[in-house]
Amino acid sequence: NALKLVVTGGAGYVGSVCAARLVEAGHQVTVVDDLSTGHADAVHPDARFIEGDAAEVAGSLLREGFDGVLHFAAKSLVGESMTEPAKYWEGNVVTSLRLLEAMQEHGTPRLVFSSTAATYGEPEQSPIPETAPTRPTNTYGATKLAIDAAITSFAAAHGLAAVSLRYFNVAGAYGSFGERHTTETHLIPLVLQVATGDRERIQIFGDDYPTPDHTAVRDYIHVVDLADAHLLALKHATAGEHRIYNLGNGTGFSVLEVIEACREVTGHPVPAAVAPRRAGDPSVLVAASDRAREELGWKPERTDLAGIVRDAWEFTQSRRG
Ligand code: UDP
Repeated sequence: NALKLVVTGGAGYVGSVCAARLVEAGHQVTVVDDLSTGHADAVHPDARFIEGDAAEVAGSLLREGFDGVLHFAAKSLVGESMTEPAKYWEGNVVTSLRLLEAMQEHGTPRLVFSSTAATYGEPEQSPIPETAPTRPTNTYGATKLAIDAAITSFAAAHGLAAVSLRYFNVAGAYGSFGERHTTETHLIPLVLQVATGDRERIQIFGDDYPTPDHTAVRDYIHVVDLADAHLLALKHATAGEHRIYNLGNGTGFSVLEVIEACREVTGHPVPAAVAPRRAGDPSVLVAASDRAREELGWKPERTDLAGIVRDAWEFTQSRRG
């Protein structure tokens, strides 16, 4: 049964992959994106595209009658969130609140929201379950957590069927849909820039962590596995409930392991140099995703690090022509 859906931020990395998977599953998709960080040519050709602000455009658009909203549009640079907090409280919290109000006004029944592992902050336990305390260490995580709280209230008060998905480290690509940030801060795309010759070396942020090889460990999840969790979330969303699920591979990989996988996949030596730790980086962030497996029937299928890197590398090379 095809659904009529609005995808905010559908011209961005995760949003574009998810919109493509939704279109291919037979859903009717309208992408709303202001192109502040997204790319018009990342919108699937069979999706309708409206350029504009998620709250303003989606707000009036919802009048047409939709089955649900997948809300990806957000400001998502951790460093910038610390130096320009207003941009994050406005762009994330205020925008999402306007969107929630419009959904309520027009009776849009379902919401799937892009949340993040940054809502947990420095973890006390590993892997991290959804029941772990939420103490974000940066403004980005604080804004996503605030939106989660707002969604909970709207579900309780107005019967919204809502699911928040807390992403760990999203990586990989889906054919021509992949990661193309103007300001790139993520490890895998940066290492691949070294392999293409666009960057001289990769900096290893800290080699004094309490981990086996002393570099930080993260849970890299393939963007297609992540996108598919959104399709399941839509299906399982229940009126009046706000459910929260972690999405990760369940396996951690260190910075050195990632660099080594990139060397193997690209055949490039990828020079690396140790640099100081990046402020606010926890040593280990790994998801416990049992809840998503049990309640959504989700199972990540692209868990091999080399496979994730290979898809990202093919995407990187195709963009370079
Ligand atoms: N990292 C690194 N060098 C870089 C970029 C990232 O060593 O040039 C490390 C970073 O400190 C973290 C891991 O790689 O331990 C993943 O960082 P990323 O920014 O990709 O994602 P985050 O975990 O911060 O969301």
